[in-house]
This record gives sequence, C-alpha cells and structure tokens, in this order.
Amino acid sequence: MSEEQILDEIESNKEEYIEFLRGLIQTESYNPPGNEKNVALKIEKYLKNAGIKSEIYPFGENRANLIATLNDNFEGKNLLFNGHMDVVPPGLEEEWKYHPLSAVVKRKRIFGRGTVDMKGGTAAMAISLKILKKIGVKTSGNLIFNAVADEEVGGILGTKWCLDNLLKSKKCDFAVIGEPTGFNPLPKVISLGEKGRISIKIITNGISGHASVPYLGVNAIIMMNVIIHNLDKLDEYVPKIKPPLSKEELEELISILFPSREIFDRFLEEQPLLQNVIKANTHFTKNLTMIKGGIKSNVIPDHCESVIDFRLLPGQKIETLLNGLKKLINELGYQIKSEPTGLPDEVFVYIDVLDKGEASYWKDWKKSQTLKDFYNIAEQCYKKKPFYFLFPGSSDTKYYRNTNYCASTIMFGPGNASLAHSTNEYIEIQDYINAIKVYTLFAYSFLKD
Ligand SMILES: [Zn+2]
Repeated sequence: MSEEQILDEIESNKEEYIEFLRGLIQTESYNPPGNEKNVALKIEKYLKNAGIKSEIYPFGENRANLIATLNDNFEGKNLLFNGHMDVVPPGLEEEWKYHPLSAVVKRKRIFGRGTVDMKGGTAAMAISLKILKKIGVKTSGNLIFNAVADEEVGGILGTKWCLDNLLKSKKCDFAVIGEPTGFNPLPKVISLGEKGRISIKIITNGISGHASVPYLGVNAIIMMNVIIHNLDKLDEYVPKIKPPLSKEELEELISILFPSREIFDRFLEEQPLLQNVIKANTHFTKNLTMIKGGIKSNVIPDHCESVIDFRLLPGQKIETLLNGLKKLINELGYQIKSEPTGLPDEVFVYIDVLDKGEASYWKDWKKSQTLKDFYNIAEQCYKKKPFYFLFPGSSDTKYYRNTNYCASTIMFGPGNASLAHSTNEYIEIQDYINAIKVYTLFAYSFLKD
C-alpha cells in the first residue's frame, strides 16, 4: 500500500464521491428543526456498502448522531474525524439561483445549502473511511468518524452528547473537525483555536403612561439606551488578557505564504476583511444585533428588548462577563430580576442567555509533529501552503479542546468559510476532492503500522 494507490483510488472514483455529496445535500436537514437522521441513514448505507458498520443514535423528532469506526480496536493511537449533518435554513428560497436542495453542478461547483457548511467536509470524512477500509490499511489504532447533529444551534445534543455518552471511554490522540476553512483569496487555514461566544437578551421594564405627561412613566427604551450607551465600561470587568496569538504573530503566520514581508504588507493593506479578522481574533468584542420596543407613538414604552453578541478571547470566561454585565447594570441604578415579569409599577432589568460557548485554543501546537505532518499533506494535496490561524466564530472544537479529551484538535475542511450560511452557497469540486485526499492520506500516515 502506498500513497500513490490512495491518490489513484480517489482520482478514479471522483464521480461517485460527487454523487454521494449531492445526495447528502438533497437530503433536507435544516436546523431548526434538524432532521439529521435522514442524513445519518444515507451515510450509514454508503459505509455499509463499503463493509463499515455505523451505529446510529436517534433522539427527538427524526434526529440522530452517528459513529463509524475502521475497526474494533481502540487500544492504539486513535484519530477522530467530526463533521456535522445539520445545516442552517436557506432563508428565502426565491433568492437562490438554484433551489437550495438541488445540488446542481455548474462550472465545476456544486450549489446548495450545506455544500460548504458542512456536508462537503462530512462527506469527505466518510469517504476517507471507505477508502482506508477498501485498501485494507494495517493499523495499530483506529479512525473514529462521528457525524453529529445540532452543531448549528450549539452542539449540546450532537458533539457534546456523543463525547459524554459514547467517546469519553475511547482515547483520542488527534481530532479534525471538517468545517470549511477556505479563506479566499488566501489558501486553506488550519485552525488552532477560536473565540468564545455568548448572546444575551436584555429586557428593560419601565412604567407605561400617556406620552404627553412623561413624568408619570419610566421609559423602557431610554433605560435600554442608558445600558447600551455604557456598554464599553464592561471592558473593565472582563480580564485583560493577551490574545493567544498577537496581531504580529497572526500576520507572521500568513506572511510565510508570500515571497517577502514587503509583498505581504502590501497585500494586507488591500484586504480590509483580513485586517478585520485579525483585529477580531485579538480583541474582546460586543455587538448590539437586535432591538425592539414601543407599541404606539403616544404611549410611554414599558418594555424594550435588545440582543447583544459578545465574543471572548481564549482565557476570558463567559461567567466573568455575565457577572460584569450584572454589576454594570446595578451601577447604572437598575435592579436585576430573575424573572422577566413583575408588578405593573416595577422598574427592572432582566437578562437572558440565549446562546453560549467558551473559547478554545490548542496551546502546544508548535510542538506537534502530527500537526506538521498534517500541514505537509495539506500542502501536497492543495499544491499550496496552508497557514495556521484562529477563527473568530464558534464551533464544536471547544468540546474536545476544553474538556482535556483532545487538546490537539484542529479545524480543517473544504469550502470557503465566507460562503457558510450564505445564499447561493457552493463548493468547488476540486476543493472537495482535495479534502478527501488530505483526510485519507493523513489518516493513513497517522494510523499505519
Ligand atoms: Zn458548520
């Protein structure tokens, strides 16, 4: 068995791989509500035909997680591949050039919801398992493939559930999550960490009255305005920490792709997106994303709601931020209640956590030979150097990195990250095929005796 044989196998079965991915895209799994079981059944069937047994773990209404392994031995060095099966809803279908479930192939691309985020990555991982089984690679460890539900709404019922209930007993030495890490116009990213996230709904409750006599009431919109206006004071309550990789270090990691530092600096100057991603990766951020209040032009509003999206650096804890926010609101003179309702004349603020996930970062990545191997294989398959970087978004990597289950978790997958969740989402077929090569060659080099 050799690497050439693996590459030959992939080259001669491209059509089949494309059809497998198209089938997954055509299988609706919009989350909410999920319906991931439909996708799990397709994967199970595909792997079964390759002689690989999958376990499906159903839950809820037509939802499921899936685990498939190359063999039954978990004693040696184990590699874990994780890909999610749910996708975000498509929004207005009329706005799509091709129906989001059509998986139309045009101009060497496949169009549809989930092509990039991330049925492309999930399909590529399943295929790598099939190829390794087919060529009968002799291994001392195991390749575990976990296709999960629920990622798009936080992963509690998907990656976290599988980790707590199925995987904890199986040692994991290295994990890859196949989310899209294309970063056009730059090559692929190998992501080593990501920011934490908490979105908080703030409700202000005032006292209603006729707008002609404002002294009678307490205006909930003005209360909200005071809170929003003072939000920057929150920075004092969030511990000032050094980002895991500084602006200079992040720039340095990308600059290796360029013939010289001068050429990179010129490139950076013309890339506001890249500059802003670097800035986001090195700062605690907050963003007021929704606001609602008032019922009539002549009524003092007694209710106002806003949603604020906070992003934390690895090392900054959600709990600290939440306590800081409460302290700030108290200092502004408002009482915080634990229930969103009160007496008609009560003035208060209520805080509700809508969504959260801690930041995560693989501290010791520089020491890892396995990571260097992955890097070299990715360079070989894509014929371009990838680069190490951090992601400002949030994914399931935190469940592996932050629980000591597998600190050495990276994110790497086909598709351009900026197309995730977008209308007319598409994946370049060559990118998808390259990812199959990377996953299979890496698993082969990691597992072979
Ligand atoms: Zn995703």
